[in-house]
Amino acid sequence: MQYLSTRDKTLRLSAAEAIKMGLSRDGGLFTPVHFPTLGSLDLNTLCGLSYQRRAAYIMGKYVEHFRPEELNIFAARAYGPEKFDHPDVAPLHRMDGNTWCLELWHGPTSAFKDMALQMLPQLISASLRITGEEKAACILVATSGDTGKAAMEGFADVDQTKILVFYPEKGVSEIQKLQMVTQGGGNVGVCAVKGNFDDAQNGVKRIFSDPAIREELAGRGCFLSSANSINWGRILPQIVYYISAYCDLLNAKEIKLGQKVNYCVPTGNFGNILACYYAKRMGLPVGKLICASNRNDVLTDFIRTGVYDRNRPFHTTMSPSMDILISSNLERLIFDLSGGDDELVRSYMDQLARTGRYEIGGEMKERLQELFYGGFCGEEETAASIGMLYQYGYLIDPHTAVAAKVLTDYRHETGDKTPAIFVSTASPYKFCDSVLSAIGETPAEDSVERIAQMEAVTGTAAPARLAALKGKTPRFGQVTERENMERVVLEFLK
Ligand SMILES: *Cc1c(COP(=O)(O)O)cnc(C)c1O
Repeated sequence: MQYLSTRDKTLRLSAAEAIKMGLSRDGGLFTPVHFPTLGSLDLNTLCGLSYQRRAAYIMGKYVEHFRPEELNIFAARAYGPEKFDHPDVAPLHRMDGNTWCLELWHGPTSAFKDMALQMLPQLISASLRITGEEKAACILVATSGDTGKAAMEGFADVDQTKILVFYPEKGVSEIQKLQMVTQGGGNVGVCAVKGNFDDAQNGVKRIFSDPAIREELAGRGCFLSSANSINWGRILPQIVYYISAYCDLLNAKEIKLGQKVNYCVPTGNFGNILACYYAKRMGLPVGKLICASNRNDVLTDFIRTGVYDRNRPFHTTMSPSMDILISSNLERLIFDLSGGDDELVRSYMDQLARTGRYEIGGEMKERLQELFYGGFCGEEETAASIGMLYQYGYLIDPHTAVAAKVLTDYRHETGDKTPAIFVSTASPYKFCDSVLSAIGETPAEDSVERIAQMEAVTGTAAPARLAALKGKTPRFGQVTERENMERVVLEFLK
């Protein structure tokens, strides 16, 4: 399988090159030249396999230079019992005869980012080897909380890689901060930035585009790379769980082969739902793709009107990983919907950069609305959604609550009775504050104490690694002014 750029379709790269580079030089995103098919035979085979084997089988269709045995080893390492606390890896929780919740947070950092970031470092390592790269990959990450921890956990002590994470000093939760500053591994670094997430992100972008730094680092035997969801190596492992969930429903005799299933995904950067769209493109019987947003409803408007407009207030919500106004991975969808029109994509992305707005029309808009439904959920409704599902004995986090609510809205509005899966992207124990309030409790003063409080109140168990944060000593305490991020990078890579 070869890869092209969404802004230059004459480009042809191997999977290894695309994964190693992360982002195309022209600013575009790497996308497969065509989509491999998934027939009934494939689905029958997959039904008989473990999650790990399903992952190797599906990913194998996209990466040509990786040997099948190797992919099996990667998957066993990424999704084995040392990393995931559930034998099914991505289990389905049955809500009623027609609705399931796909739990993607059983990995080491209790957020769905683990599903991709346990795999990406191994794909990058292998890509370095396959392309004969001798320099070390230095992964720079700006995080609003979940990505930084999941990326460090994935890259810790991986050969020929280093990882440095910047987080906004006051912009992450206490638990998220503690998760990051207690991270183990000889090749990891963490630094707080005085400023907000945008400051951290802009600093990282500045460093990426600085030729002097690139040259300096090349002299020291390393190059910069990204663990952001623009990297194809992050999208690929995410296609797996949509297909795997369908197999689980078949195995449980809840659906018949070929029957359609709707998926509702809580969305920020559009990576997760894009992976579901790609599963559908491969032939998985996916019905409607339901795109759930919080108060930052730029995608809801886009799907309903064809106008993407980021010129609007930015809201800080209780589902912070979805507080995004520019959903990078939408570019891959636009490329595909336009039938691979790289010129058109360039013009939209250019308008977005200049004016913050672009509009799609005609057939593209019709196709978008045929495939997707967009809905959003405000703060009060998010809390009510947590409270409501708790009454039915199921505890969910605020991101998942947004998806549950938008699925309900979709069903009301359309009367569509197709079986549906909504996606759960974080453990409720990552957001004890909001969850405790939503179920009518007063959260304890100390953030780590809230974990034990929630266990006591709900009778559920916290993920072991979150519970173990209590009493852990931080390894990292560096704080930097945003102007000095370059220096932190050069110091770290000495
Ligand atoms: C990252 C994240 C999301 C959004 O996923 P995208 O792929 O960016 O759309 C949703 N929920 C949680 C908990 C996340 O960490």
